[in-house]
Amino acid sequence: MIDRQHIQNIVDGKDRLTAQQALDLYNHASLHDLGRWSSQMCNRIHGDTYRTYIIDRNINYTNVCSARCTFCAFRRDVDDHDAYTLGKDELRDKLTELVNLGGTQALLQGGMHPDLPISFYEQLLVWLKSKFPSIHMHAFSPPEFVEFVAIFDVPGFPKTLPGKSHELPGEVWSAKLDVIIERLQKAGLDSIPGGGGEIFASPVRDRIGRGKASASQWLDVMRSAHRHGMNTSATMMFGHIESIADRVDHMDQVRKAQDQAIENNWPGKYTAFISWPFQRENTPMGRLPNWDRENGKPFPGEDIDHPEYAKVPRMSGATDYLRMQAISRLYLDNIHSIGASWVTMGPHIGQLGLFYGANDMGSVMIEENVVSAAGTTYCLDEALLCRLIRNSGFTPAQRANDYSLLTVHDGENSPDLAVTDWSKHRVEQLHQHGEEAPESLTQLTIGSPDNQ
Ligand code: SF4
Repeated sequence: MIDRQHIQNIVDGKDRLTAQQALDLYNHASLHDLGRWSSQMCNRIHGDTYRTYIIDRNINYTNVCSARCTFCAFRRDVDDHDAYTLGKDELRDKLTELVNLGGTQALLQGGMHPDLPISFYEQLLVWLKSKFPSIHMHAFSPPEFVEFVAIFDVPGFPKTLPGKSHELPGEVWSAKLDVIIERLQKAGLDSIPGGGGEIFASPVRDRIGRGKASASQWLDVMRSAHRHGMNTSATMMFGHIESIADRVDHMDQVRKAQDQAIENNWPGKYTAFISWPFQRENTPMGRLPNWDRENGKPFPGEDIDHPEYAKVPRMSGATDYLRMQAISRLYLDNIHSIGASWVTMGPHIGQLGLFYGANDMGSVMIEENVVSAAGTTYCLDEALLCRLIRNSGFTPAQRANDYSLLTVHDGENSPDLAVTDWSKHRVEQLHQHGEEAPESLTQLTIGSPDNQ
């Protein structure tokens, strides 16, 4: 059933995993074998000395959004009492704090605000770059660009209503997207994060991502970014109503898109793949397990009638997450980095992710608003993140957006080694916009090195 020699060839970079083999691995391989193979492949690509993290700040500049994703607890309508769009003072404070913490990158994402013009984004980027020239602007996401194409006034191009980008003729859509990417890149955009990937298969995507970019639009935005010399990442959110084959199909579409970027020698590429399980709290889809199909009430937005898709979310636990991450390392042989998702899975499962194909622990979390709205409130500072990496047997290293190493923490002044009493080490409160989060939810302490 599983050809071990063939898997070894994949690990060694001499062959590729097929979609059917990925499914076979998911269904039949032991967790131990998946960890072993994905770790060997990770070591071949990254060596076995360093595991990395980045210090960046996740800034959600607005929570106003014209889409209605059923897995989202973050979005608001323009006239909701707690709708917001950040002003310059708030942005300056956040970026100043980031710089003071040794940060190198701002991850700037909405909401797809239906009213903000292109000049708002251009002026924002120019202003941020002038104030914080050392900060890499990793900003927006394919769904935001799809909305930009719909609503921006760009000379020579038509516009349409929010969520109606697909109604523009294909060649107009592509040409307008290219102009928007060029203008925002010129204003200071450095790279594009892979938000909004979710699951590409349309029977799933049409149900969970209402009013949001289609899979082909998502991939087209990244193609344009790569042609224009910007790197991007790719993401997958699983563990809801998708099938396992949908997960493999999703990874296959990312791998093919990267093959295309490599074959065409485009100056930008996918540099990373990050996957995580759906977080259910406060989301319409999260209430689905209580949904009684027989009582006549529809699934939020629409009934599910396709026999191949689950009637309740297929919630993913820790081992399902680790299986998928390991398979993503084996399948995505053309993507440099696999990121562990401790933000959703918790620090210790994130740490275990380093033995299931991940080479990177993502970001020190100064601020997070989206998954915390869905009930996930993990928070780590640099010392804790370094400790998780070191206690896994690796040397922690702070990296840049392009995965080059900035600071290797092998000396006694390393953030974790400088901590003298772990029982007292606590991280700052996780920021939640507009309210102080209760301490019990947001202060996470790792009391003793023994429990790492
Ligand atoms: S997930 Fe993003 S695009 Fe979807 S509703 Fe939430 S904020 Fe909007």
